[in-house]
Amino acid sequence: MSITAKNVCKKFGTFTALDGVNLEAPTGKLVALLGPSGSGKTTLLRIIAGLEVADSGSVSYHDDDITNQSARQRNVGFVFQHYALFKHMTVYENVAFGLRVRKWTDDRIKKRVEELLHLVRLETMSHRYPSQLSGGQKQRIALIRALAPEPKVILLDEPFGALDAKVRTELRAWLRRFHDDFQVTSLFVTHDQDEAFEVAHKIVIMNAGRIEQSGTPAEVFEKPANAFVMDFLGNVNIFQAQLKDGRVLFGDIELPIESGRILETGAGTAAVYVRPHELDLDRTGAVGNCIRGKVIHINPAGSVVKVRVRADDFGLVVNVDLTPDHHKKLGLIVGEFVFLSPKTAKMFQPDYTI
Ligand code: ATP
Repeated sequence: MSITAKNVCKKFGTFTALDGVNLEAPTGKLVALLGPSGSGKTTLLRIIAGLEVADSGSVSYHDDDITNQSARQRNVGFVFQHYALFKHMTVYENVAFGLRVRKWTDDRIKKRVEELLHLVRLETMSHRYPSQLSGGQKQRIALIRALAPEPKVILLDEPFGALDAKVRTELRAWLRRFHDDFQVTSLFVTHDQDEAFEVAHKIVIMNAGRIEQSGTPAEVFEKPANAFVMDFLGNVNIFQAQLKDGRVLFGDIELPIESGRILETGAGTAAVYVRPHELDLDRTGAVGNCIRGKVIHINPAGSVVKVRVRADDFGLVVNVDLTPDHHKKLGLIVGEFVFLSPKTAKMFQPDYTI
């Protein structure tokens, strides 16, 4: 069951929360809505759920226009940040709740609840109350409770927001596997980019009530549509470059702009974006076209070594990511001078200052 939102607009008073949003969540896919606080993610999710009414535009599930249907008629599963389990009900009864409302027989309910508890490996906890569960366990129960009535659409609003980093990471991997097994269509709101990129088939980036870009995680990361997306994804060096006769210069250094990205020739300045792993770092600068700078910090913890280099000629601190092997080979120390050469760079609409 695909989800389509067409030209959805929503105002709260005079404030425009959604400004002509078009979104497509293909059948069986997990789509992450990502964007700064206040960009309209939850409002869009609530409109798709039927909990909020759009001022204009439409929502369809598969080919059915359900814009005027109530939340109950839409038969979607919800998972929120604060689990919202019923405190006075056991785990079993929490999962069974939606099935009782739908008048399933006791036998059928038992079979379904046991099957789902087994799936999340919490079958031994069916008699516990929510207060007797850890945060991760509660969230797994909240997920199977949402899935119990076999909805074709699941909407998740920051479902792991209240959990610590380790549990979050485990649940992410679990959610993706779980999702693939169930073949539901899911929309997942998150603040956490890593989470979105790890679990989602498709990423939708929102800003100020509009969609800036949507695509596979690789498309969005490798081909950001504009400066907002590039900036939002973060962890990027920004060089203020000069444009001269079709060349993009940072001091004397020519920046290797990806093909198709130089929009015009002429004079002016533009922000040029280089990710930390897109810089070569060496001691000699023999290859030329290099930025000289001093190593001011090395963070070797993690799967990449993060190096900060201060380029005094440009009044700029540049972040460089090295593989641990390369770092070991170089044997860098804080305080020494190194040379950086960008392997590739991205540029968006030039900001002319004639
Ligand atoms: P966050 O990541 O912080 O949860 P979000 O992207 O989910 O943000 P929304 O909750 O959709 O953002 O809110 C979008 C904008 O609409 C915000 O500026 C918010 O203050 C405003 N807004 C949301 N609900 C209401 C409401 N009921 N009345 C007035 N303004 C609202």
